[in-house]
Amino acid sequence: MAEFDFDLITIGAGSGGVRASRFAADLGARVAIIEARELGGTCVNVGCIPKKLLSYAAHFAEDFEDARGFGWSSTNPTFDWPAFVAAKDREIERLNGIYERVLAEAGVLVLRGRARLLGPHEVRVGTRTVSAGRILVATGARPVRPVLPGSAAMITSEEAFHLKTLPRRAVIYGAGYIALEFASIFNGLGVDTHLVYRSSGLLRGFDADLREHLASEISAKGVHLHPTTRIERLETRGAQDTQGAHRVYLSEGTTLEVDCVLAATGRTPNTADLGLVEVGVTLGGRGEIQVDESYTSSVPSIHAIGDVTDRIQLTPVALAEGMAFAERWFGRGLRAVSYERVPTAVFCHPNVAAVGLTESAARAAGMAVRIFRSRFGPLKHTLSGRNEQSFMKLVVDRDTDRVLGVHLVGADAGEVIQGFAVALNCGATKAQFDRTIGVHPTLAEEFLTLRTPIG
Ligand code: FAD
Ligand code: NDP
Repeated sequence: MAEFDFDLITIGAGSGGVRASRFAADLGARVAIIEARELGGTCVNVGCIPKKLLSYAAHFAEDFEDARGFGWSSTNPTFDWPAFVAAKDREIERLNGIYERVLAEAGVLVLRGRARLLGPHEVRVGTRTVSAGRILVATGARPVRPVLPGSAAMITSEEAFHLKTLPRRAVIYGAGYIALEFASIFNGLGVDTHLVYRSSGLLRGFDADLREHLASEISAKGVHLHPTTRIERLETRGAQDTQGAHRVYLSEGTTLEVDCVLAATGRTPNTADLGLVEVGVTLGGRGEIQVDESYTSSVPSIHAIGDVTDRIQLTPVALAEGMAFAERWFGRGLRAVSYERVPTAVFCHPNVAAVGLTESAARAAGMAVRIFRSRFGPLKHTLSGRNEQSFMKLVVDRDTDRVLGVHLVGADAGEVIQGFAVALNCGATKAQFDRTIGVHPTLAEEFLTLRTPIG
């Protein structure tokens, strides 16, 4: 008789957990996965997918306006929030079903409920105790509200997907991925949107020129920017999310009366109430599970991947870690995930995307760089009349000619950056960019025609 009920128990059926479990089962392991909520995790239920559907919904506002310049005429289109939410929920239910099916087809047993570790090989779920040779913690992260008077009345991205009505006025607190994406979504859907943030610039960690360009584009689209501003307190009257329910006191001394305040102030690893510390798993200062290159914690049979390790919080990273984990422990051995040159996109309007080093990171690393930069009005807007500018920037190593960083603000930036990420991971040089023939007329071809360095 086997020593344990399973070879692997995964806690959390999100991006990383599902991928690791399926791959381990395909490699012959006996696998169970435990999920407290819907299958698919953050990305499918309250992250990437519903966010991008909302982003499409919001973008139609501009599309209707732009179409006029191309000869179209239309009566005033209106937006039906409950109709959108119902359509979005149907799609997510369909995806939940697909996850259920792929796990069943891979032979992974799904256990429903909240899991808690009882020992290095034992997990409790509901009234049942199950054991495994290895336990993979893939419990993701959750939003944090800032600590300030009244902040309990703020919603987070989790609730934003299920609002009963669309607010007329909203404050979004933060200037990271979620803040910018929701600022564009709300603004596009006609909400009078205020973005309040403590720093002087948007999207910390992105290239300085890109951040500056984005701030002017987002502000031109109508989002009210409040840089170097904190929310000091929040007063909430009456029912949540009714008109003017919140009075927001800003550090600059003014107040805003709004229907909704969205905290987009970061996410924290889901490590509480899991029994981790009790079984000897070491947590880092942000509550994250600390793991080595084989995703092993301080307890040799307990592993972790994805957002719960608080490294790069992106779905493709969690997926890559899930596959690497399965290969390492149930396959042919170590397959390292490279955390360098991970491409990323922010689906605000206009979209932002980047791969590789920013100019300041390259200089801080002591590299001599050549910088190529361009700002221009996209072809589409010659007829639409929209005053939107695209931005692109290349950071090139002066000594080796290798392209170190590609930075873009413009339509479908995420689609464009994917191919450049492959090129950078192959070590492409500026000379190779220059030799590559472009696709005309596109935004992406401009990266191949940047000839004059600005520094
Ligand atoms: P998750 O997908 O969060 O899965 C963790 C699962 O564990 C959850 O289902 C949870 O219910 C379950 N769980 C937790 N505790 C327990 C327990 N004790 N017992 C049982 N189950 C438990 N990334 C991108 O790459 N592109 C995007 O466009 C993008 N957009 C995003 C938009 C938003 C609003 C948010 C919040 C995130 C977005 N992300 C995006 C990030 C992406 O969603 C995460 O990086 C990814 O989901 C992490 O996967 P994971 O497997 O680590 O965790
Ligand atoms: P981010 O870390 O991107 O941004 C957090 C923002 O909140 C920053 O502007 C930060 O300011 C601010 N902040 C943090 N703490 C406080 C505080 N106490 N008071 C006031 N402001 C505060 O987190 P998000 O929540 O936006 O997203 C979490 C992660 O999810 C992202 O980092 C990303 O990895 C992932 N994600 C990816 C998406 C994508 O791929 N398109 C979309 C959405 C999320 P400061 O900069 O000054 O520290």
